[in-house]
Amino acid sequence: TRPAKEAADEGGSYDIGLPDTEKGVVTRFPPEPSGYLHIGHAKAALLNDYFAHKKYNGKMIVRFDDTNPSKEKQEFQDSILKDCELLGVKPDQVTYTSDYFQDLYERAVQMIKDGHAYADDTPQEQLQEERRNRIESQHRNDSVADNLAHFEEMKKGTEEGKRWFIRAKLDMASNNGALRDPVIYRCNPEPHHRTGSTWKIYPTYDFACPVVDSVEGITHALRTTEYNDRDPQYQWFIKILGLRHVHNWNFSRMNFIRTFLSKRKLTKVVAEGKVWGWDDPRMPTVRGIRRRGMTIPALQEFIVKQGPSKNINMMDWTAFWATNKKYIDPIAKRYTVVVAKDKVTCTVAGAPEAPRTEEKDVHAKNTDLGKKKVVYSKTIILDQEDARSFGEDEEITLMNWGNAIVRKKKYSLNPLNLVKSEVDKPVTELELELHLQGDVKKTSKKVTWLSTEQELVPVTMYDFDYLITKDKLEDDDVLENVLNEKTEFKTEALADCNVAELKEDDIVQFDRKGFFRIDKAFKHGESAVAFQIPTGKKM
Ligand code: ATP
Ligand code: MG
Ligand code: MG
Repeated sequence: TRPAKEAADEGGSYDIGLPDTEKGVVTRFPPEPSGYLHIGHAKAALLNDYFAHKKYNGKMIVRFDDTNPSKEKQEFQDSILKDCELLGVKPDQVTYTSDYFQDLYERAVQMIKDGHAYADDTPQEQLQEERRNRIESQHRNDSVADNLAHFEEMKKGTEEGKRWFIRAKLDMASNNGALRDPVIYRCNPEPHHRTGSTWKIYPTYDFACPVVDSVEGITHALRTTEYNDRDPQYQWFIKILGLRHVHNWNFSRMNFIRTFLSKRKLTKVVAEGKVWGWDDPRMPTVRGIRRRGMTIPALQEFIVKQGPSKNINMMDWTAFWATNKKYIDPIAKRYTVVVAKDKVTCTVAGAPEAPRTEEKDVHAKNTDLGKKKVVYSKTIILDQEDARSFGEDEEITLMNWGNAIVRKKKYSLNPLNLVKSEVDKPVTELELELHLQGDVKKTSKKVTWLSTEQELVPVTMYDFDYLITKDKLEDDDVLENVLNEKTEFKTEALADCNVAELKEDDIVQFDRKGFFRIDKAFKHGESAVAFQIPTGKKM
């Protein structure tokens, strides 16, 4: 068999050797409604969708793993469903672990009665210590009656009940830590966003997952490789409870450099106002990367191409944005902007006396995209940086117009201007003379320009940097210490009159400035807002 990635690169399909697929395939994506979907979740969702719907003609369930009321909210649940839709992931069914609370409770009671579970109140730190050293809890061999009594107390959510939890009685001597009597039920009197105050006890993921997978008819439980050690535990629950068999199949977690995907950390930067919200363009959430200008087909291509490899992958954003560029380059309409600060107003000798407007293709290589207005006139504006670079009598090219010769260039004469040298002074006056017979291939400077004889549209352009300064976060890194101080860069600019028509979400190219996504349309004299889209070059 060929490597899956190779097959996918050729547009073929993966064969990852899932067993028993001829008996039908039902997969599931089990997000906890405790945050917005991030790019790692997108991988899990798209892979489950791929195997269920594209590869095996099966079924896929989105199941909310809503077993911790302290972290979960309706807002997150709603956003996750919307984001799945956005990703093109269409679940055949949406279910909730909370729909199985009664069932799970009854099974836990049965496990206690059968001697497969017990109540414990060992303090957290001691518990960890004991599990590490394979020491049995003093409650491990308590009577069934005692255990049931404690579980009932937990169920009532009393102060006494809150001290206790239920553990599976598995194998404290195992070399596999996941088998050393994992916790299966906890007491939490906080109200749940779906079941309200009906329950004060909640199953852990370790317990709920195998039970609900089996009951719901999941055939293949795809999980990230850090669950490898837990597979025997999962299978033990299936066996002890006499449940229908489910295959475990693991794929690697996806990580990106200078990016954190932990919901705890993401929640923190949102709560502390380090970003504008979960959909901030600096966030690695599905909404954030979309707002930054990632397109869904590119995201799908990128993730499905990574495929179900089991190697931990630390991705570079370069390849991610390069994939996107393939999709946006052919469809991004082209416009022109000039940086507002220190812009140079310039006269063009030989330009038409009266301003002239022409209809031009908005994308030279994709004429289907229509036309835009280009205004030619005697007065134009240029970027300061360009104007400053011109030599006296140098022949330059005004893009999409023709060549011109620099006839006069004057710097600011303001004596109060505390500048180090002539070079640092802003150019304040410039005269060009059109030289349309000149060869545009022979000039070294091709500059963007805008006629002032049109309604110039103010645009605030943003560029962003990574939220953190380290390539890879280690477990002991404190987020505060690695947060990047400045991650937002703002440039005020003026754009050609056509930009007034752009709508939110449009993806465009500003000549020589790059690709941008319009985050806010120009309206009532308020600047349009445009976010720079990375293209895979070093950012
Ligand atoms: P966190 O630990 O930050 O809360 P989580 O992985 O526990 O994140 P869930 O909502 O439980 O968050 O995840 C839903 C599904 O997405 C799980 O099946 C999980 O394995 C998968 N998943 C989460 N992060 C990644 C990732 N970085 N790469 C691939 N799959 C992931
Ligand atoms: Mg989690
Ligand atoms: Mg989880």
